Amino acid sequence: ATMPPLLSAIANAGRHGVLVKSAVVMERLGQTDAVALDKTGTLTEGTPHLADLCPLPGSGLTEDTLLSWAAAAERDSEHPLARAVVDAARSRGLPLPDADGFSSTPGLGVTATVEGRRVRVGAPGRLLDPAAGPPAAPAVDEGARRPGDAAREAVRQLEGAGRTAVAVLVDGRPVGVLGIADRLRPDAAQAVAALTSLTGARPVLVTGDNERAAGLLAARTGITDVRAALLPQDKVGAVRELEAAGRKVLVVGDGVNDAPALAAAHTGIAMGRAGSDLALETADAVVVRDELAAIPTVVNLSRTARRLVV
Ligand code: ADP
Ligand code: MG
Repeated sequence: ATMPPLLSAIANAGRHGVLVKSAVVMERLGQTDAVALDKTGTLTEGTPHLADLCPLPGSGLTEDTLLSWAAAAERDSEHPLARAVVDAARSRGLPLPDADGFSSTPGLGVTATVEGRRVRVGAPGRLLDPAAGPPAAPAVDEGARRPGDAAREAVRQLEGAGRTAVAVLVDGRPVGVLGIADRLRPDAAQAVAALTSLTGARPVLVTGDNERAAGLLAARTGITDVRAALLPQDKVGAVRELEAAGRKVLVVGDGVNDAPALAAAHTGIAMGRAGSDLALETADAVVVRDELAAIPTVVNLSRTARRLVV
């Protein structure tokens, strides 16, 4: 017997390094007329590295102490930013103090108890927002600025340089900021261009990262529609908004924070190499070799197969 078109399309997608989980998914992919892409780990390689260490004046911390405390708190997180922090501490040969009471909030960051102190590492927009966080402790040094001001200034500088800035707080008080750099995938711009011409719609960037880093990166890929500082449920909101406009949305992501949007979308594709287990399980298809350019190829395979299915 000759193979039904959708099954041969699945086999073909496999040859391009994309694992499509069912014939239904194979069929739906070709209907895509809107695409929402995550940034960290999706458009970027997702193996970010620590580039800057900024202990705040008045924190009394050295670069090494700041890094070892942050790494201790991040040790149990599977987020790519956490790995960058832990790897940097290891490569400097720093001892990691014991941490317990670890918890992580997708899109925000982590909290753990390190040597009896509550250490938080995560999104500066929220951790340093005086309206959202605990009241800033009064400055112990005689400096004119409070630690939150110095932290926000460091964040501004790092983000202006295209870094992802991460804030470190000890017992609610900002003590330092880390700058993390990530590389754009080499085929990101090509994939965005192919998806644009294939779907007739401009892909949207949906990211938990800051506006500046997201905007700089989007410009390098040809994406003009940028939604930044999104929590996982905000990514779902972006999908629903496109659906309300009658679109069939393809979401591409890698993180735990992308799982709700991957589930909500018409179709969801996860980046396989460094993708979180939750994203891989939730997605309808997995790009096993992390080639973004394989995504438009598979949408096209679906279109061809659909023409053969009567
Ligand atoms: P993206 O949508 O680009 O993949 P995420 O939603 O995973 O980004 O993360 C959004 C932001 O939340 C990060 O830029 C960072 O500021 C913060 N964050 C989340 N998890 C962590 C973590 N484990 N360590 C430090 N920061 C984190
Ligand atoms: Mg991601």
